Amino acid sequence: MAKTTPNHTQAVSGWAALDSSGKITPYIFNRRENGVNDVTIKILYCGICHTDLHYAKNDWGITMYPVIPGHEITGIVVEVGSNVSNFKTGDKVGVGCMSASCLQCESCKSSEENYCDKVQFTYNGVFWDGSITYGGYSKMLVADYRFVVAVPDNLAMDRAAPLLCAGVTVFCPMKDNNLIGSARQNIGVIGLGGLGHLAIKFAKAFGHHVTVISTSLSKEK
Ligand SMILES: [Zn+2]
Ligand SMILES: [Zn+2]
Repeated sequence: MAKTTPNHTQAVSGWAALDSSGKITPYIFNRRENGVNDVTIKILYCGICHTDLHYAKNDWGITMYPVIPGHEITGIVVEVGSNVSNFKTGDKVGVGCMSASCLQCESCKSSEENYCDKVQFTYNGVFWDGSITYGGYSKMLVADYRFVVAVPDNLAMDRAAPLLCAGVTVFCPMKDNNLIGSARQNIGVIGLGGLGHLAIKFAKAFGHHVTVISTSLSKEK
């Protein structure tokens, strides 16, 4: 079992890569107890992001094994800490790529924690208590409420999961460039893959004309 800090008493089953072979295997590990700022989530779905494969195989040379990938997580709240007022038991929620940040810098204060120098990821990160973070290829997650989002009732939980990394990655540039609720524009999407197909759906939903640029003729239709 992985070594964790003393208050990590909750045994959870998940899937871990133990080395760079690319295999993931069943793995039991511990998560922290639900703290005052925490939300405990029973995980229902977790998307598979290509980043998960990079970490599993140590493609970037920074993987801390065992690594439990998964940062497109949706599930149901089963416990909330005493400081948490925006979530309650039974709520449908999601967790994306981040588990912690400094909460004080310019980026954090403008809801751009992803640009924080101290941002920590949902897995292969180091949480505030010094423990290594483990991701969503598991049954349960304890997350700080500031890194948990609500999933609306009209959005299926399995479909919501990929929006938490792939979706937000293409949604943000559209939002930042005022393409939501704006006049119809021509938008080019380079590559029709995991991110590209979501970019097309967003752009179309926002009323724009979309052109896909691809080198794969098979994707023309
Ligand atoms: Zn991702
Ligand atoms: Zn910060």
